[in-house]
Amino acid sequence: MPRKMKSVINTIYESKLAELKSKIDTLHAPVKLTIVTVGDDPASKVYVRNKIRLFDELGLECNHVILAEESTKQADLDVLAQKAKHPILFQLPLPNGLIAPDLPAHVDVDGFGSEALGQLVLGQNAVLPCTVQATIDIISAHCGEYNFSGLKVAVVGRSNIVGKPLAIELINRQSTVASFNSRSDLAAVDWNRYDVIVVATGAHGILDNSQFIEGQLIIDVGINRVDGKLVGDIKHHDGIFSAAAITPVPGGVGRLTCLHVLGNAIKLAECP
Ligand code: NAP
Repeated sequence: MPRKMKSVINTIYESKLAELKSKIDTLHAPVKLTIVTVGDDPASKVYVRNKIRLFDELGLECNHVILAEESTKQADLDVLAQKAKHPILFQLPLPNGLIAPDLPAHVDVDGFGSEALGQLVLGQNAVLPCTVQATIDIISAHCGEYNFSGLKVAVVGRSNIVGKPLAIELINRQSTVASFNSRSDLAAVDWNRYDVIVVATGAHGILDNSQFIEGQLIIDVGINRVDGKLVGDIKHHDGIFSAAAITPVPGGVGRLTCLHVLGNAIKLAECP
């Protein structure tokens, strides 16, 4: 994996963090976050710990509500959502068929709710889903903030939290967007016609580092555990050097996503 992308991610992280810190100093409303977890999914524990650590480091309030997997009912989550006065998020995945309640936009720090997503379609959104914002940051850093117009982007995966809102945001920015899903014939796709390829499927090896060419930006959103190691959706063959820029996993999109939970909490505090 090209080392260059690690340093690009570090640069984006440091400059966004500095920007957020200076915003916090000018805010009139407090920045608060509530994270709700149900059960003890090991991956969720890591993600939640990272978010809490970031808020702690900046002296901001982050409440963690931990609910028992056996006894939690959908109504318990719905009540927490209805009572929320500050930004709140329900850490996914939720067990036992529970679903994250549909939050009103003013407390929806993840930007997954129907109000926030409706606003996104209309181009009137206050926040973007955090992983989408992280992906946009990486494209901006690589291609230039003003170069989305006409950019040819392939988005593999169409989930409501990553692929779909990302495709919509790119369309809002006048990129030319192709969307792929599990029914798409990926083997028949000419990947070289895209400037940027974003892969968010949770299927490790769906594409590999031999398939890309110089000048392309490949954003690997996937987080998978293979043989005890965290890997992305892109398979990196030993001995094959890809001329394209490919984001690392871990330490790529996920690192920036965590930062944007804070960024969105600040945005919601700015315009309550
Ligand atoms: P998801 O809800 O399971 O959606 C996966 C999407 O990928 C679906 O649209 C699915 O297509 C598509 N897909 C699955 N297998 C495919 C295949 N073989 N070919 C083409 N498309 C395929 O997952 P998600 O929540 O979007 O997350 C995707 C990955 O990103 C996971 O690894 C997750 O852990 C990771 N993630 C990372 C971050 C981060 O911060 N880095 C944040 C969120 C998620 P269908 O719709 O047709 O089923």
